[in-house]
Amino acid sequence: MDIHTDLTAAQLMTLESERMIYTYKRAPVVLSHGQGVRAWDTEGREYLDFMAGIAVNALGHADPALAQVVADQMGRLIHTSNLYYTIPQLQLAEKLTANSFADRVFFTNSGTEANEAAIKFARKYARKVLGRTDKTQIVCFEHAFHGRTMGSLALTPKDYYQDPFRPLMPDVLVAPFNDMAALDLITDQTCAVFIEPIQGEGGIHSASAEFLAALRQRCDAVDALLVFDEVQCGLGRTGDLWAHTATGVTPDMMTLAKPLAGGLPIGAALATNKVAAAMQPGDHGSTFAGGPLVTAAANHVFDRINDPLFLAHVREVGAYLKERLEEINSPHIAEVRGRGLMLGVEFHGEVAPIVDRGVQAGLLLVGSGKHVLRVIPPLVVTKEECDLFVDRLAGILASL
Ligand code: PLP
Repeated sequence: MDIHTDLTAAQLMTLESERMIYTYKRAPVVLSHGQGVRAWDTEGREYLDFMAGIAVNALGHADPALAQVVADQMGRLIHTSNLYYTIPQLQLAEKLTANSFADRVFFTNSGTEANEAAIKFARKYARKVLGRTDKTQIVCFEHAFHGRTMGSLALTPKDYYQDPFRPLMPDVLVAPFNDMAALDLITDQTCAVFIEPIQGEGGIHSASAEFLAALRQRCDAVDALLVFDEVQCGLGRTGDLWAHTATGVTPDMMTLAKPLAGGLPIGAALATNKVAAAMQPGDHGSTFAGGPLVTAAANHVFDRINDPLFLAHVREVGAYLKERLEEINSPHIAEVRGRGLMLGVEFHGEVAPIVDRGVQAGLLLVGSGKHVLRVIPPLVVTKEECDLFVDRLAGILASL
């Protein structure tokens, strides 16, 4: 039975306020469908989607080939649990490892769960492989975002996220980002260091190659694992398959999620054989994770992204968009930064009013912290769509 299809947008928003637990501040938009980089609301208004479901919809909305893959798999096998083998899961594991430093994969349902898995793997590695029950510390960085479940929340050092839920997982140290003073916190007690090669929620800040290399060296010196969280910056977003490749530094583990299945929920923790050797049946698991439906979708998305022409498109359009953003002549803009289609526009003032006005201007936007607009459109965005976005953004800035 379809209920509430006859309600107006205003009535649906009231219903949300009465029936949903209040954890999201939503824009006053009820989205109904999309096509590529465009989306429409129930009132028929069209938007240019430059936030892609927070860096998820890499192929845009309603990609026909992805829809076909998902429909075919739906008709064949949706869910099995992880007590049986399935072909799409193993194909995806093969693709992810063949195209990265990693030897093995553990699938999850989200980014936060991928980091939970990596936390458990690091603790177990110290205990089982190194024989150390006291080597439990994890180092993360200021302004990091690794998720909201209790383990990854402990690695997300923001009072606003953490304070209501204390006590957090213990043995977490917070180090300064891109600052060699961080090395002092990585000691013989450290089992892992978690870092985003490009901080997404923290305002689009890239870790320098020198900093990552220094972390690698320090981790090796004290037998700590280096974990790259590429949940947001990985899988083509920068124009390279992995954000860290350009730095020449290789981690022991990497976590993925957002775009991997083109909008269906999936995550993955990738590891070398050295780390994976610590794990055994019963150590970790998930009922849904890596099921045939999401992994069939992910196989398709991965093949599309991992195509030199696709990645070249991201680099070319990303460079064009950055240039166009830099050309906006507005006293409100402090800086444009980032790489590929992971760009940030920092404003002198707050970003919230710009995101709000985006709705009236036909733009779906997302901020990153108080002052930064994250520019993270679907990776299939065209230069013409970038022009339209820049014109609308410039219009908003002029009206402030
Ligand atoms: N790690 C990073 C770098 C992220 O940007 C996010 C989400 O924004 C997460 C982890 C958590 O992912 P999820 O929201 O899928 O749990």
